[in-house]
Amino acid sequence: MRIEVNWETCVGHGVCEGAAPQVFEVDDDGELQVLVDGDIPDKQLPAVRKAAFACPEHALRLIKSTADK
Ligand code: SF4
Repeated sequence: MRIEVNWETCVGHGVCEGAAPQVFEVDDDGELQVLVDGDIPDKQLPAVRKAAFACPEHALRLIKSTADK
């Protein structure tokens, strides 16, 4: 699975970082940085799902990657 960010709606308040700090980080300029490039490691998926659910702007979406069955 990969994470897709809707940059139009993301406002950078970092609720996602609280749920999955290994994957999301809001930098000093208030911009969200996705720390994982490509597929989300399995062990981080639960936290990423939680982050997507918790995002007040619904800016995060988990999508299947081509490697997923
Ligand atoms: S919680 Fe949602 S809107 Fe806030 S920084 Fe994360 S992705 Fe962006």
